[in-house]
Amino acid sequence: MIADGERSPCGDPGRDGMADMTSVPRIQLNDGHSIPQLGFGVFQVDPAETERVVGDALETGYRHIDTARIYGNEEGVGRAIATSGIPREELFVTTKLWNDDQGTQSAADAFERSLDRLGLEYLDLYLIHWPAPARDRYLETWETFIRLRESGRVRSIGVSNFLAPHLERLIRETDVPPAVDQIELHPYHQQPATAEYAEANEIRIEAWGPLGQGKYPLFELPEVTAPADAHDKTPAQVVLRWHLQRGHIVIPKSNRRERMAENLAVFDFELTDDEMAAITGLEREGRVGSHPDEFN
Ligand code: NAD
Repeated sequence: MIADGERSPCGDPGRDGMADMTSVPRIQLNDGHSIPQLGFGVFQVDPAETERVVGDALETGYRHIDTARIYGNEEGVGRAIATSGIPREELFVTTKLWNDDQGTQSAADAFERSLDRLGLEYLDLYLIHWPAPARDRYLETWETFIRLRESGRVRSIGVSNFLAPHLERLIRETDVPPAVDQIELHPYHQQPATAEYAEANEIRIEAWGPLGQGKYPLFELPEVTAPADAHDKTPAQVVLRWHLQRGHIVIPKSNRRERMAENLAVFDFELTDDEMAAITGLEREGRVGSHPDEFN
């Protein structure tokens, strides 16, 4: 699954002299492109603060940024990218189509507006944010995404919050599997049915809310604190490492520079099989977000 020999270029030492201590492996996608396995999410980052926050993330060493039209902060992401001086080809940028833009022409128009706000010539990954089944427009939207990819202005196309039946319908009707499915995934909510279907169809799983959005006491559980002590790492690093060893793409968010660095420093240790199994055993269908069949 890891693209052999491919590594994301590391950042220069940051403003405060903190060098990027590691490099992020890339995951091979089913369309020939690859994605840095760890990125930076900007959900609930205040639009007024986004340029500073994403600028800090880029200086810390992140090269993969995950935003969405509905977050209202694509402009800030774009400004941070423009002022960073980092060559475009070293960056991986994802945004998402909101539910009310689903449809054949409306999705194509929304794509152009997102690209404008980001100030980019092309996007690395464009996602349908939710299936929104009551609208029944995700199939025609996917057909538009396929045409956008053919135009070359987006390299990879995927979905978010799709369950196995939604994925199955796309594949059955178009023969084009999404490159990724970005779903809520953390130790309390692992979505095994979706993950298994995705794996069988070469769709990579991207975990949103990888730390459970701080809504669960994950960092106090012995299954997490024991390996943290054993490897001299923080509980958050252990949870992120669990994701990486499961093969997930992961996009933790923090406004704080020290946590950005902490969340990136997860490539210099390895959890044992027993430690992995104990964390996997925490599953309890503890969803923090909406149910994809009910959110429209
Ligand atoms: P997350 O699990 O990344 O949790 C973020 C919160 O965890 C932070 O606000 C902070 O309070 C805490 N945190 C972060 N690093 C920490 C550390 N080292 N130690 C202690 N606490 C720490 O949740 P998220 O932001 O919702 O998810 C990550 C990204 O996924 C988002 O920013 C967004 O890009 C994406 N996302 C996508 C969807 C979707 O529907 N596709 C939904 C939600 C989020």
